[in-house]
Amino acid sequence: ASKSSSANDGSAIQVVVRLRPMNEREQRHGTVPVISAKTKEKVVTVVKGKGRKQLKSSYSFDNVFTAFSSQEEVFEETVKPVIADVMRGYESTVFAYGQTGTGKTHTMEGSLERPELYGVIPRSAQAIFECLKQPQYKEHVVKCSYLEIYNEELRDLLVEGKNSHRAKLDIMECKDGGTFCRGLTEMEVRSASDVLRLIQRGQHQRMIGETKMNKASSRSHSLFTIQVDGKISLIDGDGDFDFTGKLHMVDLAGSECAKSAGNDKSAPEAVARERERMNINRSLLTLGRVITILKEKSLHKNVNARIPYRDSKLTRVLQESLGGRCKTVVVATISPSITAIEESVSTLNYAQSAC
Ligand code: ADP
Ligand code: MG
Repeated sequence: ASKSSSANDGSAIQVVVRLRPMNEREQRHGTVPVISAKTKEKVVTVVKGKGRKQLKSSYSFDNVFTAFSSQEEVFEETVKPVIADVMRGYESTVFAYGQTGTGKTHTMEGSLERPELYGVIPRSAQAIFECLKQPQYKEHVVKCSYLEIYNEELRDLLVEGKNSHRAKLDIMECKDGGTFCRGLTEMEVRSASDVLRLIQRGQHQRMIGETKMNKASSRSHSLFTIQVDGKISLIDGDGDFDFTGKLHMVDLAGSECAKSAGNDKSAPEAVARERERMNINRSLLTLGRVITILKEKSLHKNVNARIPYRDSKLTRVLQESLGGRCKTVVVATISPSITAIEESVSTLNYAQSAC
């Protein structure tokens, strides 16, 4: 059996950390790295202070990726195993969590011009279409949707036009207790390159919105979903079975956006920022709580706890895809630089509490 099949049997919630390399600006300024990552030991170490006052703290995770880890490595070890479940009819979700500028979008999308730099979304599309070539997969339809959650409002990133023209979407409840977004565009795709085009279309829509909302992409969550409806023929000739599998990939709002910026809260701009901040804070906190409770339940602890899906739009939309037999992957991204140490420690603590 391959490595991926054993990872497949592992825990339903996987938390990994990815440390990005120092960027040019940090190198030019001679910024010292204060965080190091060891893939083999699966440990991240933070060094605070100098000399005798030096304080080291270590954090362990299900996996740790360093500045040298490639896009391929990150995908193969975290998301690839989950795709096997999706292709049998399960739902799975991958989150990128971290401060703005630490590599969330690099991890989820990567560079669409260079295949070696493809992130999780393009690689997942490739893996899904590759898998569908196997003889046991009969007829199938693959569909994608792409939405943005900004200030607890949902917008369709596959509908073209100015922000104001793009209708807000409502979350509706199904009879079976699940949820869906009414009116959300679902585009059929026939290849991984079709998926690339949809990512680009969504990016373009986000950019149009940005001029108005001032760098809104770091203040909004984006959710890209690939849904596979198909038929598998059973090996022993026992007929066929239909399945629906879904993979959700979420590029979360910058975690620093959840923190209070400062003093003057009365200017109109500051009031708007404060509202954004509270919404981001609540959704990231709710997500953390939901994941923590699910983890506890999977360990037969806290079995009667209510899972607060309803406390944010993000968890509400993903309600059916978190918990149960669904797999969840959290990729927490951090910068090695001393200038970001507080944010990085806060990200490590958030990730640790989900572990
Ligand atoms: P975020 O989405 O978290 O704000 P980005 O993904 O946009 O951050 O990353 C910020 C910059 O750092 C981008 O130019 C990106 O290409 C680069 N970067 C991030 N992570 C890595 C990495 N692991 N390796 C190389 N470059 C990276
Ligand atoms: Mg980003």
